[in-house]
Amino acid sequence: MNKRTFIKLTSAMAASPILSPLMAAMPDEKLKNWAGNLEYGTERLYSAESLEQVREFVPKQSRLKVLGTRHCFNTIANSTDEFLSVRPMAKIVALDATARTVTVEGGMSYGQLCPELDSKGFALHNLASLPHISIAGACSTATHGSGDKNGNLSTAVSALELVTATGEVVQLSRKADGDTFRGAVVGLGALGVITKVTLDVQPTFQMRQYVYENLPMSQWTENFEAIESSAYSVSLFTDWQREKFNEVWLKSRVEDGKPFRAPEEFYGAKRATKNLHPIAELSAENCTEQMGVPGPWYERLPHFRMGFTPSAGKELQSEYFVPRPNAIDAVMAVERLHDRITPHLLITEIRTIAADDLWMSPCYKQACVTIHFTWKQDWPAVQKLLPLIERELVPLGGRPHWGKLFTMPPQQVHANYEKLPKFVALCKRFDPQGKFRNEFLNANIFSGS
Ligand SMILES: Cc1cc2nc3c(=O)[nH]c(=O)nc-3n(C[C@H](O)[C@H](O)[C@H](O)COP(=O)(O)OP(=O)(O)OC[C@H]3O[C@@H](n4cnc5c(N)ncnc54)[C@H](O)[C@@H]3O)c2cc1C
Repeated sequence: MNKRTFIKLTSAMAASPILSPLMAAMPDEKLKNWAGNLEYGTERLYSAESLEQVREFVPKQSRLKVLGTRHCFNTIANSTDEFLSVRPMAKIVALDATARTVTVEGGMSYGQLCPELDSKGFALHNLASLPHISIAGACSTATHGSGDKNGNLSTAVSALELVTATGEVVQLSRKADGDTFRGAVVGLGALGVITKVTLDVQPTFQMRQYVYENLPMSQWTENFEAIESSAYSVSLFTDWQREKFNEVWLKSRVEDGKPFRAPEEFYGAKRATKNLHPIAELSAENCTEQMGVPGPWYERLPHFRMGFTPSAGKELQSEYFVPRPNAIDAVMAVERLHDRITPHLLITEIRTIAADDLWMSPCYKQACVTIHFTWKQDWPAVQKLLPLIERELVPLGGRPHWGKLFTMPPQQVHANYEKLPKFVALCKRFDPQGKFRNEFLNANIFSGS
C-alpha cells in the first residue's frame, strides 16, 4: 500500500461512523505491512471506534487479528480471516498526576501521545527509534529503545483493558493482578483486543543528543561498561566494515545544574560536525536534532522524526537479544561474518535494555544487548544469511525480536522463555478456541503445547 492510500485509509478509519470494512472501498489495493515486504492474508479490515463496537465485533468472528500500525516485518500480525483495527480509538482517557500514569485508548501511537503528554508536563521513560508505532502493538512485542537503566517500552505499562474472545472486558493491573498481568503485557496479540493501556509517566525533561563518528570496535570491547553507561541512551551503528562503529548516538537528559560535557573525542571517535542519519548516505532531515541542541524528550529519544519516513523505508529488519554478559562475544561473532553480511546490509544498531519481569519479554530477568540489522529488501539473500547469524548467537542465548524477521526453529525460540508454558495456559484461559491465533503464533508459541 502506498503512502497516499495509507493516508486515505487512516482518514477513512477516523471518519468511519460504524464498524466498517475499510478495504472494501479500495478493491485494487493489497493490504501490506509498513515495509511492503508482507502482503497480508486477507483484505478484510474492519475498524472500531469504541469499546462497544469491539465487543460487538469480536464474538461474531471465528478468527481475527488486531492490526496496529503494521510496522512488524514478520507474520506475527497476519490473518487469513479478518482484521480489526482500533486506530480510530486514539484519545487520552485520563492523566493522573498523583499516580503518575496516563491512560490511552488502544489505537493511539506514541507520535500522537507524546506532544500532548509533554504539554501537560509529563514524559515517558523511553521510546523506540520511531514514534510512528502504536502503543498497544509496540508493547505487545516488547519493543525497546536503549539505555542501561531503561526497560523496554512494555515495562511502562501499569494497566491494560482487553476485550477477550467472548467480548468480555477484562481489566488487568500491575498492582492487582500479579502473574496474570506480567503474562499479559507482552501478549503478542494472542490474548484479545487491547482497548486501553495505562503507562507510567514522569515529569517532563529535556535532552541533548550528540553523535560521534568512527569508534574502533576494540575501544568498545575494552570499555564496554563505560561506553554503554556514558549516557541515558546509547546506540552504536556499524556496517561491519573496518572494525568500527560508524556512528555512536549519545542521548543525555539535561539535568538541572549539571552541565553535559561533550568532548571532541570519545574513545577514539570524533564528535560529528553536522546532523547525521544512521545510514550516512541518507538525509538527516528525517532524524531528530543532534549536535547537543536541547529539546523535549520525545524529539530526542527516537532517532526519527514524526511526519518523516523513519529508517530507510524499503528495507527488512532482524534483531537478536543476547544476555548482557555475552554482548562482546556476540558482537565479535557477528563481526567475523562481515564479508557475508555487509553486501546485504543497510546498517546494524547495538543497544542495551534493562531486565524486567514480563513473561514473554526477551529481557525477562536478564539485561540484554540487542544486535539489529536493517537489511536491503532482498528476502532470498537475507533468508540465507539469518541461519549463519543465528548459529553464532543461539549458543550465546540469542533470541529474536518478536516483530522482526528470523529463521530460528520454534524449539530454539521456546528454549529462551521459561514462562512459555504459563503464557500458553494464560492464552487458553483468555481465548480457549484460539480465535486470536495465527500461523506465526501456532508455530512459535503453541507448537510445543
Ligand atoms: C522503521 C522501523 C523502526 C523500528 N524501530 C524499532 C525499535 O527501535 N525498537 C524495537 O524494538 N522495534 C522497532 N521496530 C519494530 C516495531 O516497534 C514493532 O514491530 C511493533 O510491534 C510495531 O507496532 P505496530 O502497532 O506497528 O504493530 P503491528 O505490526 O500492527 O502488530 C504487532 C502485534 O501487536 C498486536 N496488536 C497491535 N495492536 C493491538 C491491539 N490494540 N490489541 C491487541 N493486539 C494488538 C498485533 O496483533 C500483532 O501481534 C521498528 C519497526 C520499523 C518499521
